[in-house]
Amino acid sequence: MFGEAFQRRYALSDQGLRNTRKGAFWTVAVNLVVMGGMGILYRMMQDFMNTLTDGAPLPNALVYMLLVLAFLVLSFATHIQQYKATYGLVYGEVKATRLSLAERLRKLPLGYFGKRDLADLTETIMGDVNRLEHVWSHCLGYLYGSYLSTAVIAVALFVYDWRMALSVLWGVPVAFALLFGSRTVSRKNSEKLKQDSLQVSDGIQEVLENIREIRATNQEGHFLQTLNEKIDRQEKTNIHGELATGLFVNSASVIMRLGVATTILTGTSLILSGQINFMLLFLFLLVITRIYAPFDQALALIAEMFISQVSASRLNEITSAKTADGAEQFAPQGHDIEFRNVCFSYDNKQVLKGVSFTAREGEVTALVGPSGSGKSTCARLAARLWDPDSGTITVGGVDITGVEPEVLLRDYSMVFQDVMLFDDTVMENIRLGRHGASDEEVLAAARAANCDEFVEKLPKGYETSIGENGAKLSGGERQRISIARALLKNAPIVLLDEATASLDVENETRVQEALSRLLAGKTVLVIAHRMRTVEAADRIVVLADGKVAEQGTPADLMSRKGIFHHMTQLQSGSAKWKI
Ligand code: ADP
Repeated sequence: MFGEAFQRRYALSDQGLRNTRKGAFWTVAVNLVVMGGMGILYRMMQDFMNTLTDGAPLPNALVYMLLVLAFLVLSFATHIQQYKATYGLVYGEVKATRLSLAERLRKLPLGYFGKRDLADLTETIMGDVNRLEHVWSHCLGYLYGSYLSTAVIAVALFVYDWRMALSVLWGVPVAFALLFGSRTVSRKNSEKLKQDSLQVSDGIQEVLENIREIRATNQEGHFLQTLNEKIDRQEKTNIHGELATGLFVNSASVIMRLGVATTILTGTSLILSGQINFMLLFLFLLVITRIYAPFDQALALIAEMFISQVSASRLNEITSAKTADGAEQFAPQGHDIEFRNVCFSYDNKQVLKGVSFTAREGEVTALVGPSGSGKSTCARLAARLWDPDSGTITVGGVDITGVEPEVLLRDYSMVFQDVMLFDDTVMENIRLGRHGASDEEVLAAARAANCDEFVEKLPKGYETSIGENGAKLSGGERQRISIARALLKNAPIVLLDEATASLDVENETRVQEALSRLLAGKTVLVIAHRMRTVEAADRIVVLADGKVAEQGTPADLMSRKGIFHHMTQLQSGSAKWKI
């Protein structure tokens, strides 16, 4: 019952599993002690009855008092232990789970975060763990302990009188069968509810994002109506779900309680036919008051238990994802990046099909090719944001899959299109390049990246806060901040994704100047979009459909009159046409 499958189903840590066992053990103890109490009551009743009917002498009152006292002490002690083992221990478990999740996330390949929705991940760390916490503390130990103690008590009842035992207990399996049958319904419904909720939040986001167009075209009425319909649908699904669960849970509870009626019926008919005496019926009625109680709580929580299994499987998905580990040391011989026969797929879709090329130190290697040909993927693999399916990528002769990503990335600067800026000052945003850099160093890097000219125009210069994700800056300005960061870091390898966003001529020249300062002497891998960069590159790798179609110096490739030559012609043609 408390094996590995159980641990996985409720996403318990090893400690959590031990705690749940403890919780279950003390729950069994509590329930058995309570039954012991019932036994005392039963004995007392029997003695009184004997006195009444046969005139037998009453036993010493002191014996009863001692028994009751022992019961109270035991009951108190077991309850305290049960409380400690369920509620008390769980809070530590929640903390440990969150920490181990965070640690796990830190070790996952960075590409994992590109694949998964970040809101979804946050929801797992906070929401799912919260939901599970409630199940760990309020349900698991308690519920499984109750199953066990009921089984023990059931055996005892059957030993006393199997007919009576059957009339007490028949409802329990029927109620549970009904509930487990309802699981499919509740699962389907929660799936539908998730879809409906997603539609509502997407709808709201759509309205907010397009508010200007919507107003300009007088479409408010139409958009609000569609949104209204979506919200209505979500509400209906919600109500249906609650209703269905409520219906099943309450029917199950009623069926279980029918046991009281059948016990009285069976009991009286057995008494009438002289097969049992009244005291046995009394004993069973006493037991009945207690035997349903734990199940009642279980029934109330059963919907939560079902939902928690979805949470647990989301948690398990994170904990079973492959981590990117490796050595803490990285001592390459130079910084040439070499791809050897690299294959890579995203979710079964093969994107790179045996790519081989070398980007040498001190040279600019440009990746060229149509959109979707795998250029960005190559850059991501070079920084170990993902690991290749087969083939190797080495930096200075060292296979990067053997190096801890954090250590590896110390040697990389990345200047990508989607520059991540934080709602902080310009100064602090640049300082992110190298933790602990002095103000002078930051300013020097900013100057070299041509940031001075636009920062001076900001109200507080480098101390100006740039708004959430740099909302107050233009594309070219954002990119210069990211170049300044890279300059500050001064890593030997630079991965550069040229902006396709249209920069004005002045901005573009400034960015180019900043870049040429950054790139000098480094191993540079650039995803090139402009012919200017491509022509200035030392080496060009043309990718087409996940394979290297051509490679060589620009002059080589031009004279070969292949794809590269064709692309150059096309671009200069369209440039002419634009003018
Ligand atoms: P390029 O940079 O040359 O435009 P990419 O390397 O970005 O090409 O993409 C290559 C292919 O891989 C494309 O078909 C793209 O749709 C797919 N792809 C890129 N990123 C992902 C991702 N995170 N998940 C799934 N598929 C992806």
